Amino acid sequence: MNIAVIGAGISGLLTTRALQRAGKQVTLFSSGNPSASSLALGMLTPSSLQRPVDALQRHGIQQWDVISRELASTHGVAPESFYRQWGNSRQLNVPVVLELLYKDVRHQGTQVTTQTIHALDDVSADFEAIIVAAGAGTAALLAPLPNHQMMGEWRLSRGQVIRLQPPSPLAAPVVADNLFVVPDWNSSVMIGSKNSTLSLADSANPPPPTPRPEHTAELWQRGSALVPMLAEAKLLEAWVGYRPISNPRLPLLRQVAPKVWAVAGIGKVGFALAPCVAQAAVEQLT
Ligand SMILES: Cc1cc2nc3c(=O)[nH]c(=O)nc-3n(C[C@H](O)[C@H](O)[C@H](O)COP(=O)(O)OP(=O)(O)OC[C@H]3O[C@@H](n4cnc5c(N)ncnc54)[C@H](O)[C@@H]3O)c2cc1C
Repeated sequence: MNIAVIGAGISGLLTTRALQRAGKQVTLFSSGNPSASSLALGMLTPSSLQRPVDALQRHGIQQWDVISRELASTHGVAPESFYRQWGNSRQLNVPVVLELLYKDVRHQGTQVTTQTIHALDDVSADFEAIIVAAGAGTAALLAPLPNHQMMGEWRLSRGQVIRLQPPSPLAAPVVADNLFVVPDWNSSVMIGSKNSTLSLADSANPPPPTPRPEHTAELWQRGSALVPMLAEAKLLEAWVGYRPISNPRLPLLRQVAPKVWAVAGIGKVGFALAPCVAQAAVEQLT
C-alpha cells in the first residue's frame, strides 16, 4: 500500500515511521515551514487524572522510552543527548529528536518531499491512502471535504516561549499553574505557557505567530516568581506556536473521506500523544 503523509511534525514523523515498520510504502510531504513541533519544549509529563486522554498520554510517554532507545541504537547517538528523565517526567531535546526521526524515516526508505500540498486532490490520484498530519494547516486541507465538521470541535491555542540565559544553570524543570520553566541542553532556560485560544475564524486562518512584548514580560515575571535567579537572566529569544486543541479533549484520528485520515496530537501534550496517534493510524490502515 502506497501512503502519503502530509506534514512532518511529530505526528507525521511518528506515523510515517510506524507505517513503514508495518511494511507500508510512505511518501512524506513536508512544507518546510516551522511547525508546532519544532517550537515545543519537549516535556513529557504524565498526568495523574483518569480521563481517556490522560491514559493515552501515559502510554505515549512509555512508548517514548522505547523509541528513544531505538533511535539511539540505530543512529549511534548517546540517548542522554536527546532524552532525559526528571522524576517521573521525561524531556526531549526537540531539534535533535526531529532530526533523528527525519534521518530514521529516510533511512528506512521513505521518500521525503519538500512541498506544500494546497489541495488533497493534488495527491489523491497517486496514493491509496492519505494521512493529513498538518497541525494548524489541517483544517484548511479538510475544509473542502463534504460534511466536513472539524472546525466545530477544533481550534488553535497560542503558546509563547521565551529563552533566557540565567546566571547559573537551572537544576530541574519547575512546573506550576500551567507555566513551564525548563532547562535546555545548552544551559539556557525556556519559559512557556499558553496565552490564548483563537476564535473559530482565526483558527481557520491564524495570524502570523509573532511574540508579544507584554506576553514576554508576563512569562519572565511569572518565571522569576518561581525561580528567583531568572530575574537576573538575559533574554535571548521569544517565539510563538499554534497547537490544535479539541473538544472532546482527545487526539485526532479519524477517517474523513474514503481514503483520507486526519491525525494530530492536541494542546501542550502533542509529543506525549504522538506515539498513540501513530499506533492507532497503523491499526486503521492494516
Ligand atoms: C510553544 C509550544 C510548546 C509546546 N510544548 C510541548 C511540550 O513540552 N510537550 C508536548 O508534548 N507538547 C508540546 N507542545 C505541543 C506540541 O508541540 C504539538 O501538539 C505537536 O507538536 C503537534 O504536532 P503535529 O505533528 O500534530 O503538528 P505540527 O507540529 O504543527 O506539524 C504539522 C506539519 O505540517 C506541515 N504542514 C501544514 N500544512 C501543510 C500543507 N498544506 N502541506 C504540507 N505540509 C503542511 C507544517 O509545516 C508542519 O511541519 C507545545 C507546543 C507549542 C506551540
